[in-house]
Amino acid sequence: MARIVIVGGGIGGLATAIGVAGSGHRAVVLERSDDFTELGAGIQLAPNGIHALDRLGLGEAVRGCAVHIDELRFMDGVTGEHVVSLPLTGEYRRRFGNPYVVVHRGELYRLLLDACRDSPAIDLRAGCPAIGYRQDDGSATVLLDGGEQVTGDAVIGADGIHSAIRRQLVDDGEPRVSGITVYRTIIPMERVPRELRWNAVTWWAGPGRHFVHYAIAGGTYLNLAPSVENGATEAISGVPVDKDTVRRTFAPLGDTARRLLALGEEWKSWVLVDRDPVEKWTDGRVALLGDAAHPMLHYAAQGACQALEDAVLLGDLLDGCTDAFAERFEKYHAERRDRTARITHLARESTRLWHPAGAAAEARNAMLSSMSPGQLHDYVAWMHGMRDFGGESAR
Ligand SMILES: Cc1cc2nc3c(=O)[nH]c(=O)nc-3n(C[C@H](O)[C@H](O)[C@H](O)COP(=O)(O)OP(=O)(O)OC[C@H]3O[C@@H](n4cnc5c(N)ncnc54)[C@H](O)[C@@H]3O)c2cc1C
Repeated sequence: MARIVIVGGGIGGLATAIGVAGSGHRAVVLERSDDFTELGAGIQLAPNGIHALDRLGLGEAVRGCAVHIDELRFMDGVTGEHVVSLPLTGEYRRRFGNPYVVVHRGELYRLLLDACRDSPAIDLRAGCPAIGYRQDDGSATVLLDGGEQVTGDAVIGADGIHSAIRRQLVDDGEPRVSGITVYRTIIPMERVPRELRWNAVTWWAGPGRHFVHYAIAGGTYLNLAPSVENGATEAISGVPVDKDTVRRTFAPLGDTARRLLALGEEWKSWVLVDRDPVEKWTDGRVALLGDAAHPMLHYAAQGACQALEDAVLLGDLLDGCTDAFAERFEKYHAERRDRTARITHLARESTRLWHPAGAAAEARNAMLSSMSPGQLHDYVAWMHGMRDFGGESAR
């Protein structure tokens, strides 16, 4: 049995603790904040993310508290035309083996946290900001701000996009600022007119901007998330913004989209950041995971799903491992690198599909509306249909 020190108690870090504990190891999770908690509203989980949760023993619980979505609905945000829907029921669920769901981020986090607390092999420590690591032939040590050190057989940096472990391991500077601002709020569903309620994740695509909404918390709230390419150069996170700014920014959208946006009250804004994929996630007994390894724009709704896939694979690879950590981590990176890089690029490029205007938007609509449900399923199959991210093939 080895002792694995995990830096960061987000979705990725907690899932990794469950994964490595499932392989017979002990895990220590070091979280910078004073408490283990997760803010935010809804999070979409495609079947690949739920397969990972199944492997961690939490699939049933997540399916039980999630909204099971019927379709991904793509609208022309200016004309209001329904362009195409990717059905998520019937054949989609049969083909990919799980539903496409939305869960409240806090609920998903609570399930992961409870599973960690229930495991005698997992030690959760809050108030532990890491500043770096060192290692020798037989161990790896996390260095905490304040001087304390925590030693184990291996270290996993799951400390998010501004990862201290990545800073030392990759040293690739600050994240890339995308020039896109997203505004977010939630509204009680009872305030949404009945004719504007449907069980879909809906995109309203407009010139240089788009608006996504979906139900969360068992359908009691509607999550609103409009984005605009405004050339923002400074990363901001959760900054309050008044509703008039949101109204003006999305004035080019048509009536229905604007009616929904007008229901939002307490808006907050984020300038989106990501990083270019890199060739190095591991250094001997140290590896990166989740957003620390492959931070991506949220437009593919896959960041958490990928962190969960990482966690399952890593758990499998560390099964029976007592000393060959460098080798297992190399294998983990080799298995995960191309898939996560492809999704990172897809998320960046999605605005090219969503943000055109005029004739380019019409051509896009014609192309999308000509696709059959089967073709749409084929298009997402490599991403949503993945379930072979652990198990026998990984070892
Ligand atoms: C607006 C938005 C919408 C999204 N929607 C989706 C979606 O629908 N579906 C999806 O799959 N993904 C989505 N994502 C992506 C998803 O939220 C992330 O990919 C996921 O949360 C990454 O988890 P993580 O554990 O790797 O990192 P984080 O969630 O960032 O967790 C890192 C943890 O490490 C801690 N930490 C940081 N530094 C240190 C340190 N030095 N020492 C100790 N602890 C530290 C932090 O406090 C935090 O608890 C979305 C992201 C955004 C921004």
